[in-house]
Amino acid sequence: MIDTIIIRENRINEAADALKKGQLVVFPTETVYGLGADALNPEAVKKIFVAKGRPTDNPLIVHISCREQLIELVEEITPTAEKLMAIFWPGPLTIVMKKSKIVPDVITGGLDTVAIRMPSHPLAMELIRLSGVPVAAPSANISGKPSPTSERHVIEDLKGRVDYILLGGDTEVGLESTVLDISGTKAQILRPGVITYDDIFNVIGELSYDPHLIDENSTPKSPGMKYKHYSPEAEVIIVKGNKKSVKIQEMIDEYTLEHKKVGLMATDNLLNSFDEVIKCSLGNANSIDDVGNKLFRCLRYLDQLKVDVIISESFDKKGFGIAIMNRLEKAAGFHIIDSEEDER
Ligand code: AMP
Ligand code: MG
Repeated sequence: MIDTIIIRENRINEAADALKKGQLVVFPTETVYGLGADALNPEAVKKIFVAKGRPTDNPLIVHISCREQLIELVEEITPTAEKLMAIFWPGPLTIVMKKSKIVPDVITGGLDTVAIRMPSHPLAMELIRLSGVPVAAPSANISGKPSPTSERHVIEDLKGRVDYILLGGDTEVGLESTVLDISGTKAQILRPGVITYDDIFNVIGELSYDPHLIDENSTPKSPGMKYKHYSPEAEVIIVKGNKKSVKIQEMIDEYTLEHKKVGLMATDNLLNSFDEVIKCSLGNANSIDDVGNKLFRCLRYLDQLKVDVIISESFDKKGFGIAIMNRLEKAAGFHIIDSEEDER
């Protein structure tokens, strides 16, 4: 057990010093909370994998606060990188580029590329700037749990496992960054996020998805994407289609008869048509950003209430909805029921 020091912005200097010394610091970003260490100190980086219980072949994203830091981490800054950085940095886009020699193998899982992001959260920016080092940081959760989006989540998961936790309230986006690989001939989205295909297409023109995001049977290029991200105690089931209200009611009735505790996560209008069930709101159906922000929070909340089954509304796979369904389908182990079909 490590004696974790929990602080706020007024003590940010201590957290920056800790990073410099090779210690572990949890900090907020605009996507989810990160678990940081000095990216150029392999011993410090190794501690991240231990604290999270993360497989070591899953490479880490390096967070920077200025362009000077990027220059030393990559082989070259290509014209495509320049265009992307001008529009999306600081912000929730991670760019995979050919790495320079100084990036240690523990960061990249032995790959010749490195994933880099400049976060826009003021505390993340300030922490990296004060520490003076590039900061390797995966999401600050125990591996297998949903990424943390609130102070409570990081304290629950990592108190006793890290040196500092810098608190900064709830995160804004709520899902991890978009990961875009530009190290090959054609840019590829390896992980969908709030910066969408169209957003990127409008800036660089040519673009595709990693085939694994479309075809479940192909191997993902981003090593992390092969892991099931969240396996709650509860079974997660997604219900789609126009008859979802009827289907969900049937399911609630059936599970209740079996003495199973059911949790429902859905947007407000749908949620309000049910009683007699534990609920978690995914916000307003007209705001997909709201849904993204609340997704992990609801999964964690319902799991904490020890429900046996979590039923979730389904969302259109367009724009940010693609990222939301990517995380939700993983949480559900691809268990999806079409309410317009008869059997389940
Ligand atoms: P996390 O740190 O938990 O948000 O996950 C980081 C994601 O970025 C994982 O899915 C990694 O596999 C991916 N990633 C990190 N570095 C690379 C890289 N060099 N090439 C491809 N994917 C990467
Ligand atoms: Mg993660």
